[in-house]
Amino acid sequence: MQPEDTPGARRVLPTVAILAVIFFLSVAGLRPPAPQPASAPAAQFSAGRAREVLNHLVGDGIPHPTGSAANGVVRGRVIDELTKLGYQPQVQTGFSCDEFGTCATVKNILARLDGAEPGASVLLAAHYDSVPAGPGASDDGAGVAAVIEIARALKSTAVPRHSIIILIDDGEEAGLLGARVFVAESPWAKDVRAAVNLEARGTSGPSMMFETGTANYWAVKLYSQHASRPAASSIFYQVYKQLPNDTDFTVFKASGYQGANFAFIGDVNHYHTQLDNFANADPGSLQHHGDNALRMILALANSDLTSPPVREAVFFDLFERGVVMWPAGWSFPVAIVALILLLFQVGWLIAKNRLLPSALLWGVVNWLAIFVTTGVLALILQKILHATGVTPTNWLAHPLPLQIAFWCLAISVVTVLSLAFESRTGYWGLWAGVWIWWTLFSVVISWLSSGIGYILLVPSCTAVLVGLPFTLRRGEPRNGVWLSAALPLFVAGVLGFGHVILLYDGLGIRILAGIALLVALLLSPLAPLLASLREPKGFARFALPGAALVATLLAVFAAVVAPAYSAKAPEHVNLQYRQDADSGRSQWVVYTDSGRLPEPIRVATNFHRLDKGSFPWDSLPAFLADAPHLEIAAPTFTILESSESGGMRHYRALLRSERGAPEAVVFFPPDSGIDHVRIQDQPIPQKTARVFRYFNGWDLYRCLTMTAKGIEVQFELPLGTPVEVYVLDLSYGLPLEGMFVLKSRPLTATPYSQGDVTILSRQVQLNP
Ligand SMILES: [Zn+2]
Repeated sequence: MQPEDTPGARRVLPTVAILAVIFFLSVAGLRPPAPQPASAPAAQFSAGRAREVLNHLVGDGIPHPTGSAANGVVRGRVIDELTKLGYQPQVQTGFSCDEFGTCATVKNILARLDGAEPGASVLLAAHYDSVPAGPGASDDGAGVAAVIEIARALKSTAVPRHSIIILIDDGEEAGLLGARVFVAESPWAKDVRAAVNLEARGTSGPSMMFETGTANYWAVKLYSQHASRPAASSIFYQVYKQLPNDTDFTVFKASGYQGANFAFIGDVNHYHTQLDNFANADPGSLQHHGDNALRMILALANSDLTSPPVREAVFFDLFERGVVMWPAGWSFPVAIVALILLLFQVGWLIAKNRLLPSALLWGVVNWLAIFVTTGVLALILQKILHATGVTPTNWLAHPLPLQIAFWCLAISVVTVLSLAFESRTGYWGLWAGVWIWWTLFSVVISWLSSGIGYILLVPSCTAVLVGLPFTLRRGEPRNGVWLSAALPLFVAGVLGFGHVILLYDGLGIRILAGIALLVALLLSPLAPLLASLREPKGFARFALPGAALVATLLAVFAAVVAPAYSAKAPEHVNLQYRQDADSGRSQWVVYTDSGRLPEPIRVATNFHRLDKGSFPWDSLPAFLADAPHLEIAAPTFTILESSESGGMRHYRALLRSERGAPEAVVFFPPDSGIDHVRIQDQPIPQKTARVFRYFNGWDLYRCLTMTAKGIEVQFELPLGTPVEVYVLDLSYGLPLEGMFVLKSRPLTATPYSQGDVTILSRQVQLNP
């Protein structure tokens, strides 16, 4: 091995320093822009002005789910704001159901700004309803306030080519119901060609474009040309596609609308709780949301909307300063060329005796060892942390130590193994080993999903191009050899670090081992540089792996001693009062995130644990205690009419909450054979296996906006098999008798999503 064929030990430290700079730039690049003051020019989006609107809408901190009186108040405020701006807002009322069997009467707010051309129009949308457990200042108050501030700005810009329709919809949290009513029933819906939707799954962080219509390349191109601080990546887009999450944009996309969906996801612990309030709504996120949406809606409104081509793009932003993009079809052939070029270089090194075949083999093994060892150790660590109760929830109050631990674990494995293999591989053995795997994977991943594959493809291309002069000619200065390893490493860091940081925000604790694997992947190009560490003697040689190992252990220790929950990141603890009309039994029921009962609640009364709730469709553990019986009427399910045909009995039934609860539900047992369900004459789409899994195979039909009259449910059951259904009604909050349980909930716990509810139930036997 020629000595000039290693970059030299003194280049290791600067390399690590540059990587650290890239890391901090990535962190800084994830910060939303500075909020513009209320005095900003009229044509611009100002978070200062939007926050005044937001404060007016939800500053009182009152949750306002679909159908509630509080939601009516918020609706009135939205209408006031739009009217003040010179719009003529309309309310669109409709009844709709989703594929889970959830129905509600929703009230959308619609307004429009006419464009120069009639016909095709674009849609700007956000939802104004919140979950029952929180005021929804960010989800989706920020979206609504941004839409209103944009509606104001649009009045002081030139008339756009196409009309802009403003939709502030209702019932998103219930099942995208407002969006469904808009696309199905609004006469304006059929003219819409593209939509911009604003959402949130947290209260801070950058507003990211994470979804587009089918004309992906077209939408990203518009976004990249117009956004001032673009935050987007085809990786988010591909990952989001795989998740079961939905927003109103799902409905718009299904209706054939093009466009873009924006959301921020920082501080997910606030999401769907009382902490999603005005004080916690980040003004920077609001500014980013508004900048993105204003520029995108204007770009769409002024674009040619006639048949944008259905084509996918590979795209990513660079520290929110610009977007790199190319057609998705290019990635795979480029990956093949990179692989061929690399194999040629490796063959050349071997032919010129600068790389022994055995050194190459060890280099290949080294990379595999890095990947497998990191994966196994990270998975073991993740399992131990879970089993010992360090990570009882998916998003911890203090996630930094764990993130540091998994990053440093990966760094430890990369450095320790590269040092261990270096004597068998030399510089070029490690270099070839790393890049053979990278180029191979970039071919495979680019084939499977080019939107994800770029993260491998771009560093691979950099490596084979920068490597070319140094693999083909010996005796280059060491700086040149250093470049062949360092440049692709830096490119990998620039593309990858920000994504790995976001991955925790997106997926939480369950992705920690995946984070370690990705860090090991991104840092594996460091391996050839570490070959130079054979030069120094003694301590210096082991300083890097030693520091990484010590940092891993310290971070794990910090994670173990840090509390899982805090007042700012509380545990989700929902309380229920349940009364069964058939047995007369009443119970307090507690659901907790951690599966453990917080001590103050435990001592409040005699709770016992059930592994699977108390209703047969419950799959979560619950804690139950006897509660006093209350004289309140249970819901009724009355058969109004039934008839028989074709082996089925057809029923028309009335579901009614006798006590005026907002929600009523009827649960059919698994395999009841129920078919052709209609609620208030709305057909319910056939349920999928995914839907059934949520309730252990039980089949539920519910209405969140009950009226005194009740709702009509039509269905068919096969003849001859008796079916026992559960009928429930739900109201928000606990009865007064439950005050002592409410008061026992510690500050480190909070109601979540549906929140605390009072449930009355009874069973009804059907004999078809
Ligand atoms: Zn939302």
